[in-house]
Amino acid sequence: MSRKIVITGAGSGMGAEIAQMLKANGDQVFGIDLKNSDFSADLSTPEGRQKGVDASIAWANGQLDGLVLCAGLGSSVNPPSLIAKVNYFGATAFIDGLFDVLSKTKNSSAVVISSVAAAQPDMINLPILEEYAKHDEAKVCQLLDAQNIGHLAYASSKNALTRYVRSKSIPWGRAGVRINAVAPGAIQTPLLQAGMDDPKYGEAIRNFVPPLGRVGEVDEVAKLVKFLLSSDAGYISGTMLFIDGGMDAMIRPNSF
Ligand code: NAD
Repeated sequence: MSRKIVITGAGSGMGAEIAQMLKANGDQVFGIDLKNSDFSADLSTPEGRQKGVDASIAWANGQLDGLVLCAGLGSSVNPPSLIAKVNYFGATAFIDGLFDVLSKTKNSSAVVISSVAAAQPDMINLPILEEYAKHDEAKVCQLLDAQNIGHLAYASSKNALTRYVRSKSIPWGRAGVRINAVAPGAIQTPLLQAGMDDPKYGEAIRNFVPPLGRVGEVDEVAKLVKFLLSSDAGYISGTMLFIDGGMDAMIRPNSF
């Protein structure tokens, strides 16, 4: 029987490539996005998240082998609270909402797209992370909009998301379900292009060159996600795998 996999953010960039690669592998895919996908839902709102989760459960019909969470916004989006709404609250709603059906399917797993920014040294111990941990969406949004720093919203949302993935890997592992995060560096997608073109962050993003000296391609991320969903990755859980051309090792050589 072919595997059934839900992918958010399947309408563009990494999500679209992952959906295509998994379909070519014989998997059944249910893509969720604002547009260009099987199901349209706005993951920045509680109603849109619930609609997406409910539609996924209905589509799964008792069998869900994989969940891939790609829907996300970059640092240049305004207001900054919108970044946290999609990147953290949108993703955690799917993690929580689809656990039950994943746990009823043998060898199931989830892959969550975080970012190399999640581990950025000046972003890993911010007080706002406590508000994310309390799931206080109104408070997180209020703090982010008051500071009005897109990159703070982006990095904190991805740090909080990775913490969430790692915390969930304990109860999920006991239920036989794996969950991992993937931390891309700069990958050629519309999101990266928007960042490179941004008047405020563009120069910093363009100068953020990893040791391998190039940006990554979506199929490189898709191959990693495909591996993590497979039984070849059957003992990998609760980790964050960097796919960043060596960027994290360059920034934090002594942290691992
Ligand atoms: P992308 O813009 O091509 O794809 C992101 C998708 O998320 C889009 O299809 C978009 O419509 C969807 N999305 C945004 N807001 C949404 C909402 N409210 N509801 C539903 N869907 C929504 O970008 P990408 O680079 O492929 O991004 C995929 C993931 O990778 C994101 O989580 C991003 O933060 C992360 N990431 C990207 C890079 C990079 O350099 N491209 C680096 C690190 C992490």
